[in-house]
Amino acid sequence: MTNDFPTQRLGVLMVVSGPSGSGKTTLCRQLADMGEVAYSISCTTRAPRAGEVHGRDYFFLTEPEFKEHIERGEFFEHAHVHNNYYGTLKTYVKANLERGVDVVMDIDIQGAAQVRTCDDELVQRCFVDIFILPPSVDALKERLSQRGTEDQEKLNLRLTNALTELKEWPQYQYALISGSRELDLERFKALLFAERMKVARYVS
Ligand code: 5GP
Repeated sequence: MTNDFPTQRLGVLMVVSGPSGSGKTTLCRQLADMGEVAYSISCTTRAPRAGEVHGRDYFFLTEPEFKEHIERGEFFEHAHVHNNYYGTLKTYVKANLERGVDVVMDIDIQGAAQVRTCDDELVQRCFVDIFILPPSVDALKERLSQRGTEDQEKLNLRLTNALTELKEWPQYQYALISGSRELDLERFKALLFAERMKVARYVS
């Protein structure tokens, strides 16, 4: 970077993690619906939930299809979560960052660790990560069981995984302890707006 006047900036790559039921997907979607960020649509081998749409919520793939993407080296990051595969394709994320479009990635702790340690210079300049914590473990259990999107077996697995995931929050640059929906969104948005102004984001 030179010290010339900044003329454009790169996009912010906002990597968001947190246990199921922390409210992270809602926050990411809200920011995307407001037109502030592009939501990175992941690939997954899990079955769609009621109301989920292929190409909007996820790219729902079979396991062989997913593995083909792995073999071709097309994933930016991927992980095995709650007995299913999840991954982000490279092309969409980097193309947006280069154009100055902010991208939000709603991914698990393993995927976030891969992005955090990747040696791509563009990614490192754009990267920020945030962990969304529930107000308490009891509140998380209550939110998860009230959601009604999983059967008991899957719910138990998610609860067990949630307790493991929760321990990872110190690896992140930011931690948002969830309170009210309105306040969470305000704070989430404030982080994005501040990150846009970081000197590392500018190109002259
Ligand atoms: P869900 O099945 O509830 O939609 O997502 C389960 C978990 O997978 C969540 O923690 C979510 O953030 C994570 N996840 C979603 N997409 C991706 C992805 O592309 N990569 C990784 N590593 N995790 C993902």
